[in-house]
Amino acid sequence: MQGCLASVASCYTRGMFYVSEVVRFCYGHRLLDYVGKCARVHGHNGKVEIVLAAPTLDKTGFVVDFHDVEAAALKFIDETLDHRLLLRRDDPLIPALEAANEPFVALDVNPSAEHLAKLIYDHLAGSGLPVFEVRFFETETSVAVYRGAPPASPASP
Ligand SMILES: [Zn+2]
Repeated sequence: MQGCLASVASCYTRGMFYVSEVVRFCYGHRLLDYVGKCARVHGHNGKVEIVLAAPTLDKTGFVVDFHDVEAAALKFIDETLDHRLLLRRDDPLIPALEAANEPFVALDVNPSAEHLAKLIYDHLAGSGLPVFEVRFFETETSVAVYRGAPPASPASP
């Protein structure tokens, strides 16, 4: 199957098929260097919509099997993010959590919806799925979108 990642430039020049899969999970986080509610430790019921694209369909008529997308997304999210406290690596809470033997996930970046969208995109795209974009709903009304950049054309200078 020819995925959008392999020929993403064509996504912008001709017809494409798109499908999406939704996965929900819960997480805690807080943002450093920020003034507002998300500077406090708190949780979200997050929703991730994974959009995949391909210029042609496989012999079954699929962009990709929904089951494969769901399985890959659930595995990564369950093992990495679900019901975990996500913190930036320099968060001063971390030594206290370590001392209390409380689990957490340390990221190199603030655990914002934008960064979480990219984290999920990078993992799924890296696993070979033809991911077009990841839409990360921190709430039902607030969504961050990460879309992979089209690769440089071999013909471009
Ligand atoms: Zn938040």
